[in-house]
Amino acid sequence: MTLSAFDIAILGAGPVGRVLALMLARVAPDPSRIALLQGAAAAPAAVPATDPRVLAMNHGSRVLLESLHAWPARSADILNIHVSQRGRLGRSVIRNTDFDVPQLGCVVAYSALHARLEECVAASGVTLLSGPPAVVDGQDADGVRISQGETALSCRIAVQSDGAGGGDVRRDYGQHALLTTAHASLPRRGWAWERFTAEGPLALLPHPQTPDAYSVVWCSAPERAAELAALDNLAFSQALSAAFGDRLGRLTCQAPRHVFPLALNARRGLVQGRVAVIGNAAQTLHPVAGQGLNLGLRDAARLAQSLGGWLAQPNATPAQALRDFARARQVDRLITASVTDLMPRIFATGLAPVEHACGLALLGLDLATPLRAPLARHLLQGFRV
Ligand SMILES: Cc1cc2nc3c(=O)[nH]c(=O)nc-3n(C[C@H](O)[C@H](O)[C@H](O)COP(=O)(O)OP(=O)(O)OC[C@H]3O[C@@H](n4cnc5c(N)ncnc54)[C@H](O)[C@@H]3O)c2cc1C
Repeated sequence: MTLSAFDIAILGAGPVGRVLALMLARVAPDPSRIALLQGAAAAPAAVPATDPRVLAMNHGSRVLLESLHAWPARSADILNIHVSQRGRLGRSVIRNTDFDVPQLGCVVAYSALHARLEECVAASGVTLLSGPPAVVDGQDADGVRISQGETALSCRIAVQSDGAGGGDVRRDYGQHALLTTAHASLPRRGWAWERFTAEGPLALLPHPQTPDAYSVVWCSAPERAAELAALDNLAFSQALSAAFGDRLGRLTCQAPRHVFPLALNARRGLVQGRVAVIGNAAQTLHPVAGQGLNLGLRDAARLAQSLGGWLAQPNATPAQALRDFARARQVDRLITASVTDLMPRIFATGLAPVEHACGLALLGLDLATPLRAPLARHLLQGFRV
């Protein structure tokens, strides 16, 4: 079956693809000429409605999602972020009051965000096409050919948002992330914790759905992650308390545990002819500091902004608009990917002088608000040009 031509086809209906569709629908003369292609997930663990990830969203992402009426009903505020390293001196606390903002960020469940975005897309007028994974078959000067199983369609611009990453820059961190939920005997509302251990970073985020519980993201070598995932609840709770320390009293975990492999997979360029790439399709990052989706949403917002004028005259070439998008995203992508690439490695060298230097750096950050400001500003909004 061949479908009629669309102005824009978005391949991948994760949060980044959906946000792009919503933003384009607001400026497109006819939103039905934007197609959002929802591919069946390859693995059961990747089904969005049951995805176990929780996401720390910064202030900029929240403002964007609220403007689209896509903010989920339940979220947990992050007012303070405590950064430390296990077994060494030095820690830093970033507070919302230092920057005069209501919160540094919020935590939402991937599944809840997905459900809300699904409702918004259904009401947006965008054409939603469900089927097998979609593929770009080729392009020429006038448009792009796409297939989704037996269905073929054409469009003037294709946007890949399939979360698949790219092969230009790769790093295998030798780490997997274990995700679960823990209850604390001495909970502290509004606090998030990022603790660097020799195994990898361990984050505890306020849980979006259960007060006084924490979402745990614990990065370690793949074998260690598998071992931790297989422990009984008591042994796992003890291992978690030993790694985290006693700042929240006793940690107890009875929730399921999920393991995600971690790697940096990034593309250098975001545009090839009439095909643009955004979100995790352009860069999958280490989850330290919770930057992946925040960065992907900024990709989507900038692409929608660049294509706004072109959508009024879609017969014109989009080359300039796509160049503008790619240029505008360079610095933010580079800084965010570099920071999230460096952080998990520098704290896990196993070299005492390096770890002491990291401790001193954290102490320095803690003593000097002006030093903390750039880090916090990036956490709040990311780098914008
Ligand atoms: C453990 C962990 C913790 C994280 N924590 C945070 C955090 O705190 N804050 C943060 O900002 N980010 C975080 N991230 C990163 C965040 O999850 C991703 O950046 C975000 O999900 C990317 O969204 P996306 O829409 O680009 O891709 P995805 O969420 O991967 O969605 C892509 C969609 O496209 C579909 N698809 C795939 N192939 C095709 C195809 N060929 N055709 C059509 N559809 C297709 C997939 O099934 C999927 O539904 C974390 C990641 C991990 C692994």
